[in-house]
Amino acid sequence: MHDQRSTTEARLERAVAQRIAPAVHAPGEPVEVAAWHAPGEPVPVAEGLAADFEPFAVGRAWGPPWSTTWFRLRGQVPQRFAGREVEVVFDLGTDARNVGFQAEGLVYTADGQAVKSINPLSTWIPVPAGTTTFEFYVEAAANPDVLGGGGHAFEPTPLGDVLTAPREPLYVLARAEVCVREGEVADLLTDLEVLGGLMLELPLEDARRWELLRGVDASLDALDPHDVAGTAAAARAALAPLFASPARASAHRVSAVGHAHIDSAWLWPLRETVRKVARTTANVTQLMDVHPSFVYAMSSAQQFAWIAEHRPEVHEKVRARIAEGRFVPVGSMWVESDTNMVGAEAMARQFLEGKQFFAQEYGVDTEEAWLPDSFGYSAALPQIMKLAGVRWFLTQKISWNTENRFPHHTFDWEGIDGTRIFTHFPPVDTYNSELSAKELAHAARNFSEKGRATTSLVPFGWGDGGGGPTREVLARADRLGDLEGSPRVSLHSPRQFFTTAEQEYPDRPVWSGELYLEIHRGTYTSQAKTKQGNRRNEHLLREAELWAATAAVLRGAEYPAARLKELWRTVLLNQFHDILPGSSIAWVHREAAATHARVSAELEEVVATSLAALAGGGGTDLVANAAPHARGGVPALGLAPAAPAAAAVQVQRGQDGRTVLDNGLLRLVVDEAGHCVSVRDLATDREVLLAGTRANLLQLHRDTPNRWDAWDVDAHYRNVVSDLLEADEVAVHEDDGDGARVVATRRTGASTLVQTLRLPRGESRIAFTLDADWHEREALLKAAFGLDVHADRSASEIQFGHVFRPTHENTSWDAARFEICAHRWLHVAEAGYGVAVTNSATYGHDVTRSAVDGGRPGTTVRLSLLRAPLSPDPETDQGRHVLEYSLVVGAQVADAVREGYRQNLPVRRVSGAGPVAPLVAVDDPAVVVEAVKLAEDGSGDVVVRLYESLGGRARARLDWGFPVASVTEVDLLERPLEQGATTVGDDGAQVSLRPFQILTLRLARA
Ligand SMILES: [Zn+2]
Repeated sequence: MHDQRSTTEARLERAVAQRIAPAVHAPGEPVEVAAWHAPGEPVPVAEGLAADFEPFAVGRAWGPPWSTTWFRLRGQVPQRFAGREVEVVFDLGTDARNVGFQAEGLVYTADGQAVKSINPLSTWIPVPAGTTTFEFYVEAAANPDVLGGGGHAFEPTPLGDVLTAPREPLYVLARAEVCVREGEVADLLTDLEVLGGLMLELPLEDARRWELLRGVDASLDALDPHDVAGTAAAARAALAPLFASPARASAHRVSAVGHAHIDSAWLWPLRETVRKVARTTANVTQLMDVHPSFVYAMSSAQQFAWIAEHRPEVHEKVRARIAEGRFVPVGSMWVESDTNMVGAEAMARQFLEGKQFFAQEYGVDTEEAWLPDSFGYSAALPQIMKLAGVRWFLTQKISWNTENRFPHHTFDWEGIDGTRIFTHFPPVDTYNSELSAKELAHAARNFSEKGRATTSLVPFGWGDGGGGPTREVLARADRLGDLEGSPRVSLHSPRQFFTTAEQEYPDRPVWSGELYLEIHRGTYTSQAKTKQGNRRNEHLLREAELWAATAAVLRGAEYPAARLKELWRTVLLNQFHDILPGSSIAWVHREAAATHARVSAELEEVVATSLAALAGGGGTDLVANAAPHARGGVPALGLAPAAPAAAAVQVQRGQDGRTVLDNGLLRLVVDEAGHCVSVRDLATDREVLLAGTRANLLQLHRDTPNRWDAWDVDAHYRNVVSDLLEADEVAVHEDDGDGARVVATRRTGASTLVQTLRLPRGESRIAFTLDADWHEREALLKAAFGLDVHADRSASEIQFGHVFRPTHENTSWDAARFEICAHRWLHVAEAGYGVAVTNSATYGHDVTRSAVDGGRPGTTVRLSLLRAPLSPDPETDQGRHVLEYSLVVGAQVADAVREGYRQNLPVRRVSGAGPVAPLVAVDDPAVVVEAVKLAEDGSGDVVVRLYESLGGRARARLDWGFPVASVTEVDLLERPLEQGATTVGDDGAQVSLRPFQILTLRLARA
């Protein structure tokens, strides 16, 4: 027969869009609208309700960017609606094709109870049955679409900060009516969306596709386009047999988990996220009232804490649903943080603070890590997660890889220490699913484990400003449990999914090492000040805890536990996956800088108070060493007088304009342009630089990614480069006690770059400072070191260890890692000889074999210092920056580890009574003390976190300088673990560690 397929498909599309969808809410009666435009930042609910409202009308403009308008909606339910389902339809003037990036509102009753939110896909407000009059208030936020073009134009815009945004209104109020909701029409709409969508996904040779086609035709025949409401039931009846046909035995199984991925800050400031979370959770609890099997998972302890603090009435509803097990806290973390750049201890604290909050606030033990959107995953995570009591890990971001397809969706992920954790990548490849037939078919087709496993997770619901799952999507789920041609969809909690998936697939494949994301490589560099604040405060937190704990134990000083917790949580929040990576609007980064400065000041206060208590009164000059290695005669974690200074650095100026600096360990030659052209390691009599190269050569690249400007560095950046060779001014400074210096001032474009090279006394290290007045646009500034080292791989510090990455591009996987992330150091070596580059706040690096010396490749290590993308913050990184890094010559990995700490933990000079012995001491430099603190439970116990830093086995003695009653191995939440290899004596313990093992010990005080 003639197929007429395209005719029916087009018929369906038009009928749904123009006849059926508009008939769900038939035209009703206008609602009386009044408005109050809040003059500045959002006001408390009570203030909004009591405001001075003025008449307003549909068709009028409202909402300059970032402003808040309170609308009051009053009206009567018409007599003719009696006994029907009545709703107010209130459309703020948003575009339903662009969900999550526009105006949103939260609806309140007159007595301040939150009802639900208003979003582009959810513009209705339920009017309680039997009422004849109603009064609602809507707190509407005029959030702008910062990225433009539905989120993906990436054009420079002033919209990203309230200080620069234009003041003209963005929206026009589109609809305010009280209507009857035609439930049968809504059901027909869902029926046709489900079956029509399924039809388009099935192969043309599949008879089911044609059954659906004929059924759709019959249904549309039964529907009178001039009386949709009156004939919807007949149209549905024509579809009923199609729903009666069950799913195939081998159909993929989907655990659909309600969710809304709400970025804790991104294209809006933190304060708006507080309201976004309140809107979405109000929506979710409202849906739970009417849909008893709906389960919703929400991550980020911080977001729960925000609702508790700012919208207690919403929080009470959430708490009640958590107790029922339908509103499920997930993720185990304080926020969905970045995992590339977050430091070791901070990564542990993301889990400590997250899990502790969920346990204390709700009595819930979260067992999954939920990071659908972070930009790549550190190979330290499996061990950290396991030590926090996490069993399962979820992300989908690796599906964003631009070069390589990841081979698994369900697998065991193995970290650097060998810990494995069950991991799932939802094959639906989105965290904003609508449970559309297209998405579900993609999940089933894409699922790599077919034939071995049958189930995958689909997070559904609109995130950010979308309000989460809608009733329409839940109605779809209701129809998809057992439907021929479709995967079977069940509404599950994450735990239900993980336990099933783990059981059905015991022989899982293993992926070892990092989950590198092949996109968003610019996030290691963008917004340098945000990264600098984070790095600084991570180390100040270490110092503050160490000295405060030492002062508490040795001097009886008060331990500022509450203050430290507040400061930790603030730093953890700013590690969110769009803040630390530098991918947020200007407003967010402006606030992050101010917050980091406040946190630094408070931590400096804690450090100063603690050191004063420790040092006591007296005039002895002491040095406090917070690093985990002794230096300058001062023990790790202790205070002592400094050792006598080493001999002064010799400076010789030659006739040829060259200067030679010599500290007895290194001899440097600096040319007339201030470039270091030779680094001679005197201990091995070896030239470190490749012939013809300059150490710390600044290279300026054009940096115009195809998309995602703040996020991405595209490989083509390498094609256009200029070396900054000329100097306007070069000054040589003799050793002033702190080494000799050469300062070179260079200009490029509108920028001035002052490079200082310092050769310190008695160290095999060159210290570099870049003082940049940076005004380039769409440029990437790198500092290059061409090294005469034959390295086939580089080692980069990550949390509690390091990862190796090849320096070649043999495979597409190697080639894709053209920009890599390192924490405090990066190391390259051939057998017996290595060089490290350490930094104080630089994460982006690249390592290549491109510099060739006589046909043999050397190793070029480059640091990515500054970028200047124009979107979402058009002023990214403009202005002054001071960046510090070092070249450590003749360094093994152990030296790199030590120098990385040194670069970030400068010694402090105090005067006092005399030396203070450390609270704990370890006798093996491979075993590093990452944290010393007092226990979370307020017992006064001392908690010491150690790790094996070199990737080998270690046996070390741990000594303590205070009376200890017992020593217990504990997890990151400081709960006892099965006792491992630690043996305890009277005044010390013997610890044994596996490669990269993290060991936390609780020392109870006697
Ligand atoms: Zn996100």
